[in-house]
Amino acid sequence: MDRTARPSELDQRLDDLRAELAGPVLTAADLEYDTARRGFNAYVDRRPAAIARCTRPDDVAAAFAFARAHDLQVAVRGGGHNPAGHCVLDGGLVIDLSQMRAVEVDRGARIARSQGGATWLDFDAATQAAGLVTPGGVVGSTGVAGLTLGGGIGHLTAQHGLTCDNLVGAELVTSSGDVVRADEELLWGLRGGGGNFGVATALEFRLHPLERVVGGVLRFRGEDAVRAALRRYRDVVAASPPDLSCEVVLTVDEAVTPILVVAPCYTGDEADPAELRELRAGDGLFEDGVGPQTFLDQQRIFDSAYAVNRHYWKGHFVHALPDELIDVLLERIVALGRVPGEVLIESLHGAPKDVDPATGAVGYRGAAFNVSCMATWLHPDHDAEQVDWSRGTAAAMEPWAYGAGGGYANYMQADEPIERVRGAFGDEAFERLQALKRRYDPDNVLRRNQNIPPA
Ligand SMILES: Cc1cc2nc3c(=O)[nH]c(=O)nc-3n(C[C@H](O)[C@H](O)[C@H](O)COP(=O)(O)OP(=O)(O)OC[C@H]3O[C@@H](n4cnc5c(N)ncnc54)[C@H](O)[C@@H]3O)c2cc1C
Repeated sequence: MDRTARPSELDQRLDDLRAELAGPVLTAADLEYDTARRGFNAYVDRRPAAIARCTRPDDVAAAFAFARAHDLQVAVRGGGHNPAGHCVLDGGLVIDLSQMRAVEVDRGARIARSQGGATWLDFDAATQAAGLVTPGGVVGSTGVAGLTLGGGIGHLTAQHGLTCDNLVGAELVTSSGDVVRADEELLWGLRGGGGNFGVATALEFRLHPLERVVGGVLRFRGEDAVRAALRRYRDVVAASPPDLSCEVVLTVDEAVTPILVVAPCYTGDEADPAELRELRAGDGLFEDGVGPQTFLDQQRIFDSAYAVNRHYWKGHFVHALPDELIDVLLERIVALGRVPGEVLIESLHGAPKDVDPATGAVGYRGAAFNVSCMATWLHPDHDAEQVDWSRGTAAAMEPWAYGAGGGYANYMQADEPIERVRGAFGDEAFERLQALKRRYDPDNVLRRNQNIPPA
C-alpha cells in the first residue's frame, strides 16, 4: 500500500462520515482493513471502499445517509458468517456492527437484549451466567442477528424451537435513517425474512432455564456402519421426546471412508436415556465423547476456523430421510475421491412443530430435516470441482425436497435465483414480505441478502 498517495475524492468525503460516527471508518489505508473485510468464507474476497464501524443506532443512520448521498451500495455485517458473503462488497460501504456486541440479561423477566453485532459466544456467555439460554447457532462466532433473521437451527431446537420463535422484540434503523421499534407485522417478517427491512441494532429474546446438558459427539466409521447409524438417527429423532436435539455430519476420512459424526444434546432428567443408548448402538463406533457437560462446552463442539476455508453450500429441507436418500448421500460423499466437505443433517422434530406457523415468515417448520451439502476446501484450484460437487449433491436430493425446494436461506449462496428465495417462503408469505419491504426499504437499499424485492 502506497501511503503517500494522494487521498481520493471519496477518501476526503469520508472525513465527513468520520466526523459524524462515534466508531472508526476504515479504508484500504488502514492496517485493520484487511481483517475487517474478511468473512468466515475465504472463497469470498471483496474490497469495499469503506467500512463504517458503528457503535450506536445514530452511526448506522449516518452511514445510510452517507451511502445515499454518494451513491454507494451498502452491505451489513454482523458475525460475517453468511456463506454467500453478503456482508462485504466491492467498492461500496459496509455497515459493520462488530463493535455492537453487548448482551443484557433481565433474569426476572427472562429476557435478553442483544446488540446487532453480538455473536453466539457473546450471547451464551451472558445468558449462561444467569443459568438461562435461548436456542441459537452451534458455532460461537456466528452473528446472533444474521442467524435469527433467517430462522436459526441448533442444539436446542427440539426443546425450544427455532431461534426466531424466541424473538420477542427488535429495534431497527431503516435505510432512510429512522429508528423503529418492531410492531407485530414487522416481527412476523423478521422471523425468517432476513436483513431486508433494516439494520437490527437490538434484538430481544425469551430465555429458558438451562445449566447442564448431556452432549458431545459420537463418531462412526465405515460405509455399512454409517448407513446403519444414519437410519438409527432418523428413527430415534422421529420418536424422540423434545428433550433431545440432534444433528449429524456425514463426511469421509483421508482414505475416503465414510464417517458419521452424531451430535446429540439431551436436556431431560434421566441419567441414561434410551434415545442416547440407541444412538450409540451398532458397529463402527470409534469415538464416544457424549456425556454430561455445560451448555457452553456443548456450544464448542463444532468450533470452526474463521476466514481459512473456502465454502459453497447448497441443500434442501426434506419431508423424510428414506433409505434411498441415505444411499444417495453415501454415494455423493465419496464421489470426489477426497474430502469434499460434509453433509449436515439438522432435525426439525419437537418444538418447531408446536409453534403456530402464523407467528413468523419461515416456511420450513413442517419439514423433517434440513440437509445441506457443505463443500469446504482450501485451494482455489479446486473451486470448480467443489462447487459442482455441492450443486450435484443438492440436485440428487431434489426428489425428496420439501415445499418448492427453496433450501435454508441462512445457507444459500448469492447465485440463487429469486424463484428459489420465493420458494423458501411460499407465494403467500413472500408477497406479505414484499409488502413489508415496500414499507421499510422501498428503494431496496438492503439488497445484499436473500433478497425480497419491494412489491
Ligand atoms: C460456521 C457456520 C456455522 C453456522 N451455524 C449455523 C447454525 O448452527 N444454525 C443456523 O441456523 N445457521 C448457522 N449458520 C448460518 C448463519 O445463520 C447465517 O450464515 C447467518 O447469515 C450468519 O449471520 P452473521 O451475522 O454471522 O453473518 P453476516 O455475514 O455478518 O451477515 C449476513 C447477513 O445477515 C444480515 N444481518 C446480519 N446482521 C444484521 C443486523 N444486525 N441487522 C440486519 N441484518 C443483519 C445481513 O443481511 C447480512 O448480509 C452458520 C454459518 C457458518 C458459516
